[in-house]
Amino acid sequence: MIEIIAVNAFDDNYIWMLKNPASSQAVAVDPGDETPVLQWLEQTSIQLSAILITHHHYDHVGGIPELCDAFPGIAVFGPGKEKIRGVTHPLKEGDKPSIPGLAADFQVLEVPGHTAGHIAYYGEGVLFCGDTLFAGGCGRVFDGTFEQLSASLQRIAQLPAQTRLYCAHEYTLANLGFAEWVEPENPDLGRRLQIEREKSQSGIPTVPSVLSEELMTNPFLRTEVMSVVGAAERASGNKLTTPGDVFTALRQWKDSEYD
Ligand code: ZN
Ligand code: FE
Repeated sequence: MIEIIAVNAFDDNYIWMLKNPASSQAVAVDPGDETPVLQWLEQTSIQLSAILITHHHYDHVGGIPELCDAFPGIAVFGPGKEKIRGVTHPLKEGDKPSIPGLAADFQVLEVPGHTAGHIAYYGEGVLFCGDTLFAGGCGRVFDGTFEQLSASLQRIAQLPAQTRLYCAHEYTLANLGFAEWVEPENPDLGRRLQIEREKSQSGIPTVPSVLSEELMTNPFLRTEVMSVVGAAERASGNKLTTPGDVFTALRQWKDSEYD
């Protein structure tokens, strides 16, 4: 059993803090900014024991140097295929890192696409997926490829349906707005939008989400559903024959007309 606490950073980032109950140590996932992490550690009298990084973007790694100054010698885990200053333990597919200060089993999944070396941490019924999958949507393609991101999302879709997904940004309502463009008739989507709007209005994070819910409402995980294929074909003006092509058309449609 681990506890997972959200620390807010920048406008819409979540830095996830992981700890065992009653432990005085915690692990930070993607600390893009050290300030809110140091504040939380001070308020709770908890020591930082390690850092987990999913990819190289500044809003995920920017706090590493200061956190390592404040807690000298801590282990910093990150993707072996990306150059990130401060990473002490480069990871690859299938690695099961033993994380100091945390009694929990996590396994590394390589999920390229948003960036070329992006990794996710899976275990304890949860997935820390960085900017690969978002609640109701997915990351943009930067230095990876559309095909990679499509395959990575397909992989996440195969995890147990009750897996809780901890992404790194609060983008849910905007994402579900695009999902409605794609599937205006999807009743699960209407129901979810209502629930997530109420959470937002009460200041409650809409993350984590549950994979089963994503499979019913996130168009980027529904590239084999006929209505999604049809919408992607109308938007792109092309006949689309593979889930990867449908994914690419959806992502490009969102990039060019929605965001
Ligand atoms: Zn990113
Ligand atoms: Fe990000």
